Amino acid sequence: MSVENDPEPLVLGLTTEQMPPLVQVRRWTATALADLDDDHLEAVLLISTELLTNAYEHGSSPYGVRLRRGRVPCRVRVEVDDTSPDQPVVGRSRLADTRGRGLIMVDKLSWKWGVSPLPDGGKTVWATISCDQEGWIPCAGNG
Ligand SMILES: [Zn+2]
Repeated sequence: MSVENDPEPLVLGLTTEQMPPLVQVRRWTATALADLDDDHLEAVLLISTELLTNAYEHGSSPYGVRLRRGRVPCRVRVEVDDTSPDQPVVGRSRLADTRGRGLIMVDKLSWKWGVSPLPDGGKTVWATISCDQEGWIPCAGNG
């Protein structure tokens, strides 16, 4: 696992392991986004956890996480690269009831989310979390 601190984006490389490295990813994200207010940060952490867990559950070997930070408006885009071209499944699946539920949460908490194919056959699942959404309290220092 390596952490590069490019100004934009912040990239966390993952080695493929049996269990998702959720603790490391959460710690890395919380450090990188330490100036966000708690609610905004917690939403980013929940979503990055879900995107990673979902990729592992579907055997699509996530290998990288990126964070892109926008300040006006205050937005964070989380991107998870994996090796599978399969689209993530939202909602119930015939394989297991629990599959896909995390993405319902991602859909509710994020401003926008989606899937972009990668040239090597994998994909990036991304979600943008903005605190200027209806019903949110904007982070201090951002307006
Ligand atoms: Zn914010």
